[in-house]
Amino acid sequence: MLSKPPSSAQFIFSDRYRKHSYGANHPLGIPRVSLTYDLIQAFNAITDSEVINSRQASIDELIAFHTPEYLQAMQKSEDQNKITDSYRKKHNIGNFENPYFPGFFTTPATATGGSIQAAEAVLKGNIGFSPAGGMHHSMPDRANGFCFLNDPVMAINHLLNAGLSVLYVDIDAHHGDGVEFAYRHNPEVSTFSLHMDTGYAYPFKGGEIECTGEYSNAINLPLPKKTNDSEYEWAFSKVWEKILSHVEFDAVVLQAGTDILNPDPLGKFQISTQQFLKTVETIKSSIPSSENAVSRLAVLGGGGYHPLSLSRCWLGVWAILSNRQLPEQLPQAAIELLRNIDWDMDEDEDYYPKFFQTRLDDAYRNGIRDEIKIRVEHLLKIHPRLNG
Ligand code: ZN
Repeated sequence: MLSKPPSSAQFIFSDRYRKHSYGANHPLGIPRVSLTYDLIQAFNAITDSEVINSRQASIDELIAFHTPEYLQAMQKSEDQNKITDSYRKKHNIGNFENPYFPGFFTTPATATGGSIQAAEAVLKGNIGFSPAGGMHHSMPDRANGFCFLNDPVMAINHLLNAGLSVLYVDIDAHHGDGVEFAYRHNPEVSTFSLHMDTGYAYPFKGGEIECTGEYSNAINLPLPKKTNDSEYEWAFSKVWEKILSHVEFDAVVLQAGTDILNPDPLGKFQISTQQFLKTVETIKSSIPSSENAVSRLAVLGGGGYHPLSLSRCWLGVWAILSNRQLPEQLPQAAIELLRNIDWDMDEDEDYYPKFFQTRLDDAYRNGIRDEIKIRVEHLLKIHPRLNG
């Protein structure tokens, strides 16, 4: 058997993520990044030199996208431990969607610093993984869809400042609207988002096939409910092939939200972990590399509201990025870690023993509906950049 090359991946983490933010009743009030990190440790799949302690993004960095008024409102709210009515109205903060919590500014700013560090890793010839990032809905002067600070934009800016053109790929279940908005006037960045059609899913507008951007730099593929593995794989590969032959880019920033996974309580797709990981593997193996032959890839987190399926999926992502083969059987320490998570939707516990089998599960492969073929063919036909 050929041995895999040594790891050149960096996992960006902070103990700050062990504190529950957002509050118990919020979809994000669950262990995510810390559980992923602990699960990786339970698999003994990381060394100390692969972990980077996340730093906080500076105001100078954040101001490249966010308004000074919004950043000041966030900082002041944290300092005063409350949100005023005027901030609430003006910046869409302190409500159920984007709630106040201790560390309200510092925690998102740390996640954003981590995503910049993932881009820094790329510039050093490594792959960076910032699972606390991927907050793709955030807008310049307001929080949006659980997202306070737009860390994908900061990571992309860091690569742009180094002279690299960037392809942003967003496989989260929701349209990457904030990132698309940030680069609508910048031909150095192309965006590719596959998502639940906004006709039935958040953010309820935009992300249509026809939204191709000022420089034809936005590629959007909205998909129907119950999109399954065979449909996703077919649709992704059709568009991906065209992107590789028609779009120029030096590096990829991948938003890897896991709410496309079948058990996710907010997502409406039926995608298996194996298909998710196959998509990540395809991206990693087909994009430009640094001089040391390591893919120029920064991976960020994103949505994902089922802590068990999220942490197992991001463990799998980490294994791909760091060239590790995971055992098919979960170590006892990992099973105990997952069982200790207080999660009353633990419907797939029996699935643990076969979770990392590489075989795709037939249950998720139900043929390709005409509706999906029509969407993909329409995109390839009308998109100015992919056409021809
Ligand atoms: Zn999402």
